[in-house]
Amino acid sequence: MTLVPRLTALDVLRTTFGYDEFRGDQAEIIDQVSGGGDALVLMPTGGGKSLCYQIPALLRPGVAVVISPLIALMHDQVTALEALGVRAGFINSSQGIDERRATEASAVAGELDLLYLAPERLGMEATGEFLDRLQLALFAIDEAHCVSQWGHDFRPDYLRLSMLGERWPDVPRIALTATATPAVRAEITERLGLDAAKVFVSSFDRPNIRYRIESKQQPVKQLVELIRTEHDGDAGIVYCLSRASVEKTAEALCKAGIDAMPYHAGLPSAVRSKHQNRFLREDGVVMVATIAFGMGIDKPDVRFVAHLDLPKSIEGYYQETGRAGRDGLPATAWMAYGLADVVQQRQFIAGSDGDEQHKRLQGRHLDSMLGLCETLRCRRQVILDYFGEPSGPCGNCDTCLNPPQSWDGTVASQKLLSTIVRLRRERGQSFGAVHLIDILRGKRTEKIEQWGHDELSTFGIGDELTEMQWRAVIRQLLAGVYLSVSDRHSTLELTDASWGAMRGEQQLWMREQPIMEAPRSKRSRSEAGEKRSRSAAAASLSDADRELFERLRAWRAETARAASVPAYVVFPDATLVGIADSRPGTLEELAEVSGVGKAKLERYGDRVLEIVALDVATDR
Ligand code: ADP
Ligand code: ZN
Repeated sequence: MTLVPRLTALDVLRTTFGYDEFRGDQAEIIDQVSGGGDALVLMPTGGGKSLCYQIPALLRPGVAVVISPLIALMHDQVTALEALGVRAGFINSSQGIDERRATEASAVAGELDLLYLAPERLGMEATGEFLDRLQLALFAIDEAHCVSQWGHDFRPDYLRLSMLGERWPDVPRIALTATATPAVRAEITERLGLDAAKVFVSSFDRPNIRYRIESKQQPVKQLVELIRTEHDGDAGIVYCLSRASVEKTAEALCKAGIDAMPYHAGLPSAVRSKHQNRFLREDGVVMVATIAFGMGIDKPDVRFVAHLDLPKSIEGYYQETGRAGRDGLPATAWMAYGLADVVQQRQFIAGSDGDEQHKRLQGRHLDSMLGLCETLRCRRQVILDYFGEPSGPCGNCDTCLNPPQSWDGTVASQKLLSTIVRLRRERGQSFGAVHLIDILRGKRTEKIEQWGHDELSTFGIGDELTEMQWRAVIRQLLAGVYLSVSDRHSTLELTDASWGAMRGEQQLWMREQPIMEAPRSKRSRSEAGEKRSRSAAAASLSDADRELFERLRAWRAETARAASVPAYVVFPDATLVGIADSRPGTLEELAEVSGVGKAKLERYGDRVLEIVALDVATDR
């Protein structure tokens, strides 16, 4: 593609990418970098970071070098650009020497607009000499938080990137990350020598993601229900803590007829990359994974992210859930969470080898996460608050949509805490949650009789609450640190705060256990026979339009398979929704749909119009 330098950023956005307008700070960032300045961009996942360097790459003479740690994804990134008619290439260790030389030669000949480069290449002097031979448009440093030693994705190779500014001081640099914390941001600035860069901080809100946290009862069954009723045929990621639960969950989902695959560090790397490729390339695959999976997953149409185990911090949770709905269409972040999670995590921290300071830090991370789980406030508000961003109730989370009842749990808490005191004072004993609940509910189990706990004065004083409700009380006491868990036997112990609670110094408001909605599953079964798409992406469409959307999706799957590219490289979901909704009759009308640029109009336009026309003919 030849671009006349006089093109504006907006022209490129419209003709090459097929989008109407810039989002958020994109226009200003592109201005800054195209004009030769440096930029530090903090934008949430899905915010649209790529365009911030791709458009300046097309506007400035020469080739833009993109440093990215995501070697496995470079090929797909380049394919996606080529599909838009942009000249792009990559250099990393996955290539043979011939392929690398060919890419280098095109770059030197000025035939590339973008060149993706793995950071470890910068350790070789040959790379420096190669870059010296290029006309450099800019350097883009993607996933810039990898330079931070305190962040969660530190890559030693990233420390070398300070050389870019030293060796090529006149080439503008743009560093991008989705990590929000001020500490990481300061480290990026310092280590990359970006003091003169203009800083762009976007809102970290992801309004299209609906946050939902349910209490854990039969987690896999709850998950299957969610997928069947709301995410039928959608791509999603399910996070589990252990390899064993990844395997088990993937198997259970498959049994339920869901196209699911496991992914964890214990699988051979060939299997891992096979699964990752299927997930990226095909429609509607569910990946069940440990958190090892996901960084840089460039798939815009992940419709749900589910957590079957409690994440260790809000940062982690937000980053993982952020992989849903990068295309801006409705998406779900769903979690099932229960008492056992809290006990397990608290115990894990207490028993870890770290020093006391480290344990306290981990404890604080977990407290914030538990606070989010048990909050009576808007979930999004709690999350954004955590990142220092003020906001109002969102209207798109479970607490906003279905406000939980709260109840005064002060007396119940006193009953429980005083049972623990009695056991300890009178008998020097401590027990876990199950046994304590049995005592409170007056159950004469073998263990109770054996220990003579039916003689305790608190035996049977709590039968007004169900076992489930007692578990919720304990969970919330743990979340508020009115209780702690011993590191060896997961027995419940008192904390300093317990005494105040026992004396009734605070009122303890608790979240009412939401009742499982049984009728929902009935509806799902009766609707299961219908062909209509229940994909969340198509939620805004009428029934007839959804059928067209499904036909377009089938065509896309076929086309992507034939070209062996990921489906979203052909068109993202958002574009198919746009086509199904507006039913264009001409190429001009099709070009109006967001995401249809010049190259794709030429390649796919006629076929898409045929599918729309056929649908109009049969449906109406
Ligand atoms: P990030 O790298 O910040 O996670 P991406 O650059 O992958 O986000 O963009 C996320 C999605 O949003 C992509 O599908 C991209 O094509 C789309 N997108 C980006 N900018 C715009 C825009 N101005 N208008 C419409 N869609 C956009
Ligand atoms: Zn809300």
